[in-house]
Amino acid sequence: MAEERTCKICGKSFIPNKYRSNQTVCSSLECQYQRQLDNMKKWRNRNPNYFKYKESQDTSWKETCRQRSLDWRKKHQEYLKLYREEHRDRHRQYMKDYMREYRKKRAQEGHGKTGAEGTVA
Ligand SMILES: [Zn+2]
Repeated sequence: MAEERTCKICGKSFIPNKYRSNQTVCSSLECQYQRQLDNMKKWRNRNPNYFKYKESQDTSWKETCRQRSLDWRKKHQEYLKLYREEHRDRHRQYMKDYMREYRKKRAQEGHGKTGAEGTVA
């Protein structure tokens, strides 16, 4: 029996993959991408000397860094594209809802008031 869990990034509940029983992040593209970023950050925190060591060995370290980030970007371009597309649609929908709520509120408040005051029901 699969047990429902709460995604530690978006907070939604999900059924973990049966082959990855310690999964803590849901399978949405957004959360998986965020998880990758977090993992990288954690790894870097755990290995602070790795980069320092490399730096002292390699005089063209900056160039290496640049190249690596280019490589990374190239590799993830397709992924980022998917991510952005998914995100853009969601953002568009969010803004649409937000503006509708905003206009509704403005209409209820009347036109004399400005700012956040006067929102107490
Ligand atoms: Zn999630």
